[in-house]
Amino acid sequence: MIQVYNTLTREKEVFNSITPGKINMYVCGPTVYNYIHIGNARSAIAFDVIRRYFEYRDYEVNYVSNFTDVDDKIINRARKEGVDELTIANKYANAFFEDTLPLNIKPATVRSRATEVIPEIIAFVADLIEKGYAYESEGDVYFRAKKFKGYGILAHQDLSEMEANAAGRLDDEELTRKEDPIDFAVWKASHASDEISWQSPWGAGRPGWHIECSVMAQKYLADTIDIHGGGIDLAFPHHTNEIAQSEAHTGEKFVNYWLHNGFVNVNDEKMSKSLGNFTTVHDMLVQYDDPMAIRYLLATTQYRRPINYSSDTLSQAHLALERIRTGYRNLSFRLSKASAGHDETVDSLVDKQVNVFEVAMDDDFNTPNALAAVFELVTIANTYSENELVKNDTVKYLLDSIEKLMSVFGIEDLTTNQGLTEEQSSLLEARVAARASHDFKTSDKLREELNELGVFVEDTPQGQRWHK
Ligand SMILES: [Zn+2]
Repeated sequence: MIQVYNTLTREKEVFNSITPGKINMYVCGPTVYNYIHIGNARSAIAFDVIRRYFEYRDYEVNYVSNFTDVDDKIINRARKEGVDELTIANKYANAFFEDTLPLNIKPATVRSRATEVIPEIIAFVADLIEKGYAYESEGDVYFRAKKFKGYGILAHQDLSEMEANAAGRLDDEELTRKEDPIDFAVWKASHASDEISWQSPWGAGRPGWHIECSVMAQKYLADTIDIHGGGIDLAFPHHTNEIAQSEAHTGEKFVNYWLHNGFVNVNDEKMSKSLGNFTTVHDMLVQYDDPMAIRYLLATTQYRRPINYSSDTLSQAHLALERIRTGYRNLSFRLSKASAGHDETVDSLVDKQVNVFEVAMDDDFNTPNALAAVFELVTIANTYSENELVKNDTVKYLLDSIEKLMSVFGIEDLTTNQGLTEEQSSLLEARVAARASHDFKTSDKLREELNELGVFVEDTPQGQRWHK
């Protein structure tokens, strides 16, 4: 039984999918006008872990996400660089794939771009007008927020508060075209001939931001979906407006469970361009040679809690991950000389920790508690590695269990020499070969060279082990 915290009800609820064994899940993706920042990566990784856990629990997950590829920020950037909007969007959409690959974020089942669903958006907006939920004004189309019963419930926003905020935005040039300050745009008229636009019943224009997610969720998933995810900063206005549009359009409940991930602070401060601590994944990957440690930091904090990103928290993540890798490697060295059969007592210790892991993840994806179970398994592996005699099936069972649980966090392939340079790896390999041919003079020399490079080698009856 999996329980999830639903932002809509402010409660942990038992998760039941609409179709048994299948999950329709939508997660908001980035606006592709720049490299993704660490906050984007956190959201993508948080929902990747949630998806992976449902898959671990044998659900088939239909995971849809978007790229906002038409928007003011993109238009401004294109102008500044003297290129067209799609050049900017394509560049940063490609960069998204390049940056998320080393972080091992699974590709969405469908990754759609706003510009790919323009006819559907126009039909959706036309229907909202027909139903009286939206109106055209000087080529813009606005949604009548107050007409939608329960507007603002998701983010627990009070109507009078929203009105005060909206009316206070004097720089909002749309204000004169709106019936009510809290109405929001579902279609925006194009005001310049050099900006991207599409023909519509309301003249040349482009979609508002919120509408694409409502359209894609319906097009690629269903009228009512199981899970909608995104950063907590999206609850208002973005998700609030998605609910209003979608439910006005279909007359059905849009989303059963709203899940929101927490913020990322950088050096204990909110990340912002003005503070100069704006951190892109692109830069992080250049500066840091162990992308899985970045993933570890972002994946193992409970998804609703804030994360502090700093060189300290990152190196702690790296050290913790190295402990898991070292335990895993040391035990896998024993595999070649293990005897047949299994050790029942050790097997049942493993079962117990796998169960602890599942209980933790079932509880609104409590990754820190789940991770504690993995560390227990590593301790069991370390202790077992010290035994003079080990049994093949138990070694395999331990290794498989660590691997399987870590893959829920998206950390796979624990045997690779991650974090090692090519030079360090080849010296280690050369040393294994030297020892195999009893050339101890060379192997000692290689050990010294490795020491100087910060890799410490130790020889055991089971073979060479190393740590950094
Ligand atoms: Zn969205």
